[in-house]
Amino acid sequence: MKQSDYLKVLKLAKRTLEESQNWGEDELYKAPVKNISLPVQPQATELKNNNKLSVEELKNKVLNCKDCALGKTRLNAVFGEGSSSAEIMFVGEGPGFDEDHQGRPFIGKAGQFLTNLIELMGYSRDSVYIANIVKCHPMKDPSNPELRGNDRPPTDLEVSECSKYLEAQIAAINPKVIITLGKPSARYFLKTDMAMGAIRGQFRDYNGIKLMPTYHPSYLIRNGCVFGKKDQGQEVTKLKKEVWTDLKKVMDYLKTGKI
Ligand code: SF4
Repeated sequence: MKQSDYLKVLKLAKRTLEESQNWGEDELYKAPVKNISLPVQPQATELKNNNKLSVEELKNKVLNCKDCALGKTRLNAVFGEGSSSAEIMFVGEGPGFDEDHQGRPFIGKAGQFLTNLIELMGYSRDSVYIANIVKCHPMKDPSNPELRGNDRPPTDLEVSECSKYLEAQIAAINPKVIITLGKPSARYFLKTDMAMGAIRGQFRDYNGIKLMPTYHPSYLIRNGCVFGKKDQGQEVTKLKKEVWTDLKKVMDYLKTGKI
């Protein structure tokens, strides 16, 4: 390679790295990006092999997994938790700071918000299943797992590497409904880059399982939604109503078998 070509490649790599570091979660809720590549589903052979495993066997695989770069910087792999015969499975994008430190999904502020929603639906955390698309903490600065605010969404490559475990979890648990939390999760299942406002609240089908996309609890918190306090503004009330409408649709479906 000529020296000038080498410099061009270096410049492009530097720009890509800077852009990925600026990719905040807020950006995900803006208008759809054109011509973006979407995460690919795992290979059929990988699925076949993993789908024979029990939830416990899968968990052991995940706890020892180093298949992508996230495995080298995580503090703890976060497999997921709940009932292995749950009728509802919640799926977020990936572990954050608190989850990485404790090895459990949705346990920070967003986790408390999700727990409140689950209980409002008449369930407990133990009776549903809670998981993420990727099992290890995606960090803006992977050298600093002790830094708060260091979270980022997983890349398409990380999703492609890790989703074999999620697919196997779904096969083992076989829930009646999957509730996707936030855009990266909806994007994985639905292969769309449409804004959350346009895709939430409508049942879809995912390999014979009903799927309901709704907002991520972090997004609701960032936009002022709190439990047990008067809403500050109509936008907050609107968001709360939307997420509750989505969850009520799931509750009605599980009660009646009808959409
Ligand atoms: S993110 Fe998934 S594929 Fe990557 S190391 Fe963790 S468990 Fe393995």
